Amino acid sequence: MPAQIIDGKAIAESVRNQVAAETQQLISDTGVLPHLAAVLVGNDPASEVYVRNKERACQKAGLKSTLHRLDAATTQADLLVLIDTLNLDAGVHGILVQLPLPKHLDSTQILDAILPTKDVDAFHPENTGLMLQGRPRFLPCTPAGVMKMLQVSKIQTAGRHAVVIGRSDIVGKPMAALLVQKGVDATVTICHSRTTDIGAVCRTADILIAAVGIPEFVTGDMIKPGAVVIDVGINRVNERLVGDVDFTAAMTVASSITPVPGGVGPMTIAMLLQNTLTAARIVAGVS
Ligand code: NAD
Repeated sequence: MPAQIIDGKAIAESVRNQVAAETQQLISDTGVLPHLAAVLVGNDPASEVYVRNKERACQKAGLKSTLHRLDAATTQADLLVLIDTLNLDAGVHGILVQLPLPKHLDSTQILDAILPTKDVDAFHPENTGLMLQGRPRFLPCTPAGVMKMLQVSKIQTAGRHAVVIGRSDIVGKPMAALLVQKGVDATVTICHSRTTDIGAVCRTADILIAAVGIPEFVTGDMIKPGAVVIDVGINRVNERLVGDVDFTAAMTVASSITPVPGGVGPMTIAMLLQNTLTAARIVAGVS
């Protein structure tokens, strides 16, 4: 039997509808309109698309969004001044700096400068620490989106072996941290570029999560029959979007799988809206 498709588009839509309803409620209860400020430096075409999609999603859900466009040659000091201005602006609840930044800028210093209560990407060390300790303020959007998909799809995690391929601060590490939390209770292995015999490790996964950034890195023979496969990868190959998993091969081995596009991608944006609403609630004093 072919694998069941985990429909990220549909799950994301229901999250966005929920955020929209709760946003209206927050506005009518407190007058606070959740506001996301996005910062885009330069004109990387993929980043332009991501930022536009995020803005559109905010508007559709009734949140305010503003875009701060800066020239590719912007200095570190100028970008820090903008972050500071947004930190101090009581009408801004969430700040998002679109990555990657141009090479001459120090991303770590920029992300660290965002006020933790406005850090809706959840990249600030304070938010990472809170997440690791199981008392999150915000959850990083992509891993949180994956967790939501697993939950909505009623995929059992407790006691099962989850293998995460990739150890980035944005996806791999927080993904593993969420899977190991109490209540989720997976047994977690992280694979990375120096892992030996990665295929053998992957074949032991009940839940296999690929966040590698290499098109179709996960081949059919790396998947245990009946495993759940989550493909975080977004790779552009000849103008086509391709995941980190060989989808056609995986369909014949896995029990369920996320497609690319239409899987994890839409979830990431939905969770960003959720975090912006949470940030506005913090300001409004509503839990
Ligand atoms: P990254 O480049 O920061 O990290 C990739 C990780 O893969 C690294 O930790 C590295 O150790 C590991 N890796 C690289 N080569 C490997 C190999 N040969 N064997 C095993 N591991 C290897 O990337 P990232 O930011 O974590 O993103 C990963 C993928 O997910 C990319 O395709 C990216 O576009 C995509 N992504 C998607 C979303 C979404 O919303 N769906 C969000 C963020 C990233």
